Amino acid sequence: MDDWSFAFGARQTDRAAECRADAGGIAQMLAREQTRVLPLWNGKPLISATSTAGWLRPGDPVLSEGGAPVFLGLRDGVAMFAQDISGWQPPADAPLPAPGFFDATEQHHPDAPEGWRFAELRGVMAALPAADAADAAAARSLLAWHRSHGFCASCGQPTAVGCAGWQRDCGACGTTHFPRTDPVVIMRIVAGNRILLGRSPAWPARMYSLLAGFVEPGETIEDAVRREVAEEAGVAIGEVRYLASQPWPFPSSLMIGCEGQATSLAITLDPVELEDALWLSREDLALVFAGHHPDIAPPRRGAIAASLMADWLADRPA
Ligand SMILES: [Zn+2]
Repeated sequence: MDDWSFAFGARQTDRAAECRADAGGIAQMLAREQTRVLPLWNGKPLISATSTAGWLRPGDPVLSEGGAPVFLGLRDGVAMFAQDISGWQPPADAPLPAPGFFDATEQHHPDAPEGWRFAELRGVMAALPAADAADAAAARSLLAWHRSHGFCASCGQPTAVGCAGWQRDCGACGTTHFPRTDPVVIMRIVAGNRILLGRSPAWPARMYSLLAGFVEPGETIEDAVRREVAEEAGVAIGEVRYLASQPWPFPSSLMIGCEGQATSLAITLDPVELEDALWLSREDLALVFAGHHPDIAPPRRGAIAASLMADWLADRPA
């Protein structure tokens, strides 16, 4: 079986959180030639012609319309930053971003090297070097949080970037705000030789995946797994165990991969959440992964759902 490992899990950059509050030290890093900055435009990281992250030197003309750089950390001693350049206007002949499930358009910045482009991270996550994918994920989540948290949730006044991008400070009431991570359970529900897959109404044709849902306030991971599966598919779950997790920066989820043992098989759909759900045998799932199933497309490479399904197919322990 080929590589169905998931993206964003292999972070090789030291977050070096102790450096964040030292504004003078951060400014010195940004003055060094070897420092690297990853621009993101409307949530899309710059990708090089060889499908690495499009790291630039500080002061590169592509960064001229950027906001405050956020400090990602140190990689082999080199300071890594990200910068939101959503203020940039692509040339008139560039494709407009396509709203919806997946934006397949790519935009080239005239000051970037030939073949470099802003691309949807979901489309390139499996091709990027692991460290670049993890840094791009952290950058995407952090910059999205800044874009949507310009005002204080306590008093409504504007807030300012603090701690090299890892907090926002309200000068009016003194509240400090920190970036959010939203826990989501994603569960491999099994019953003997069968696995439960479903599809949301908005998904591309033939896409099926594991069921998933947000953990609610006051809820354990195990309870969230049981509740989501009962709500969406009407299936009862007994034992639940944790398998692995994946940061999912669309915009700020943490996918908590679990396995749940079904204690009932009858499916009752919640049509708002799911358009279809079904039990697949290992043999049928093998056809899906091989691209030979008539109704179900292979899962998206790089997503934890694909990895959890592949492990079950190969009977690999977590
Ligand atoms: Zn405030």
